[in-house]
Amino acid sequence: MSTHRIIIVGGGAGGLELATKLGRSLGRKGRAEIILIDASRTHIWKPLLHEVAAGTLDSSEDELEYLAQARWNHFRFRLGRMNGLDRHNKTIRLAPSFNEEGVEIIPERLFAYDTLVMAVGSLCNDFGIPGVKEHCLFLDTTAQAERFQKQLLNCMLKAHTSGKPIAEGELNVAIVGAGATGVELAAQLHHVTRLLSAYGLDSIDPEKHIRIHLVEAGPRILPALPARLAAAAQNELHRLGVTVHSGQRVVSISEAGIHTADGGMIPAGLKVWAAGIKAPAFLHELDGLETNQINQLVVSASLQTTRDEDIFALGDCAACPMDEQGNLVPPRAQAAHQQASLLAKSLRRRLQGKPLLPYRYHDYGSLVAMGRYTTVGNLMGGLAGSMMVSGFFARFVYLSLYKMHQAALYGWPRALLISLLHFLRKGVDPQVKLH
Ligand SMILES: Cc1cc2nc3c(=O)[nH]c(=O)nc-3n(C[C@H](O)[C@H](O)[C@H](O)COP(=O)(O)OP(=O)(O)OC[C@H]3O[C@@H](n4cnc5c(N)ncnc54)[C@H](O)[C@@H]3O)c2cc1C
Repeated sequence: MSTHRIIIVGGGAGGLELATKLGRSLGRKGRAEIILIDASRTHIWKPLLHEVAAGTLDSSEDELEYLAQARWNHFRFRLGRMNGLDRHNKTIRLAPSFNEEGVEIIPERLFAYDTLVMAVGSLCNDFGIPGVKEHCLFLDTTAQAERFQKQLLNCMLKAHTSGKPIAEGELNVAIVGAGATGVELAAQLHHVTRLLSAYGLDSIDPEKHIRIHLVEAGPRILPALPARLAAAAQNELHRLGVTVHSGQRVVSISEAGIHTADGGMIPAGLKVWAAGIKAPAFLHELDGLETNQINQLVVSASLQTTRDEDIFALGDCAACPMDEQGNLVPPRAQAAHQQASLLAKSLRRRLQGKPLLPYRYHDYGSLVAMGRYTTVGNLMGGLAGSMMVSGFFARFVYLSLYKMHQAALYGWPRALLISLLHFLRKGVDPQVKLH
């Protein structure tokens, strides 16, 4: 009898942890063959992307090589972008890969599976608003975050060296969507623009020439988080001089700026879209699997897709029930982490013929890092209920979510060693990326 083959598509916050855990258990003992497929060659934890965009984190320092991780943890890695599924023959299809010159390096391929886990994450949702695709930058991938970092630096270099007066709005940044990503990016950019000025781009006075705008359709910032937390974050943004436009629906984007439903226009040279998510479009046409209106695969509490019990989904691409009122598990790294841990147990049980475990979302709270200035948040759980935290302690808890991800991938000793190296490197490198 051939070895049971588990294919995981998407090596992000959830998929990579799952592949690592299954590799260390089933793969190492030869009880199953574990294959991870990703469209990218390296992994970076997505919640770090706003730091890459601001230039306070060099992505190469925190990147993980899939091939090395696979070798160390008894699974295989295959590079490719999935674009098709044949449920009858239990195969997935990967699109061909091309190099920078457009030359095909890997042809289209088919992979057979016994169990398939979809963990392909999500993308920003532009809601079909005119001009978003053409004029906004997104933070879905490392490449996009790096592109933003380069554009910010180039805009400032251009303004610094042109010898002409800086035009109104030329160096403004407008961020659409005041969820955690938008709020964190706004605070981080405030810090970075001051640093760049201090590192020599001193003909730019950040107080005078750079305005950071945060635009939100809802009545307040951080709509998914408790009101008290949002109020604390709003106060901090106010202190930093970030202009918050809540209750402002964006109707279109142009080269000049952001156009709102009340007829207003917010001038901005750089525009970032961080409002809402949707799962990748190809899931909607995946051989009849059930999807919702934002392309997420509908799953039951066992994380099995509703129309095929051999196909599971986790993380942002899964519409997983959270309660009897029909609410769904939120698209967050802590949910992807919890689901990966549960599925690692469930898939081992499944091979032994035991029933699957149901997933229950545990909200441990939310933390919003306001750049170098402060971190605010609420922690949930135990007898304490919900507790507001801020400052150093909140920053420590915020960082621990990433440490848990690193520990799941490398084990605690190596994760702590990496943190130490990071800390030492920060002492000798500039505080912001300057190229
Ligand atoms: C800037 C930013 C900040 C965030 N901050 C926080 C935070 O502070 N706290 C929090 O809880 N959450 C945060 N999130 C959300 C969090 O990052 C996601 O919820 C989490 O990464 C989801 O994990 P995932 O495994 O579902 O998908 P991802 O981590 O997005 O991974 C998906 C993987 O699938 C791969 N892939 C996609 N399509 C294909 C395909 N067709 N074929 C093969 N591979 C494919 C991608 O290359 C990627 O590696 C943030 C998100 C962003 C963008």
